[in-house]
Amino acid sequence: MQITYRCPECGRDNRADDIEQRDALVCSGCGHAIAIPPQAIEASHVRRCVVCPSHELFVRKDFPQRLGVGIVVVGLAASCVAWGFAYRFWTYGILFATAAIDAVLYLVFTDCLTCYRCGARYRGPGVTQRHEPFNLETHEKHRQMTARSS
Ligand SMILES: [Zn+2]
Ligand SMILES: [Zn+2]
Repeated sequence: MQITYRCPECGRDNRADDIEQRDALVCSGCGHAIAIPPQAIEASHVRRCVVCPSHELFVRKDFPQRLGVGIVVVGLAASCVAWGFAYRFWTYGILFATAAIDAVLYLVFTDCLTCYRCGARYRGPGVTQRHEPFNLETHEKHRQMTARSS
């Protein structure tokens, strides 16, 4: 199982493989070590986040959100330009192509598991089983907890 997480000490993004075989995560920037609690990961099941003490994780597409938004923005801008020149065929063609690219990317990218609290992402076979998709109420609860503690 692979994890990507943000170091709570220095804020650097880290990636580590085979975390079920490790007992600690060490930041590549500042060397800060996070001990992985013994029963946190059971086979391919993440019982709790190893970076923060949260038990709540959700399943989502492992899709760089900025890329998705970027494609839509470029597609819309291009179709507006075509519309401005009264190229009706191109307007619909570009809109259709934008939607098609988004749909293909959505299929290509697999699911990953994300921590509500610290945003750590877990990837690996079977990692998303026994976890629920994103829930706004849970997200809101964690957002408020984070706001209160900082
Ligand atoms: Zn660090
Ligand atoms: Zn976490």
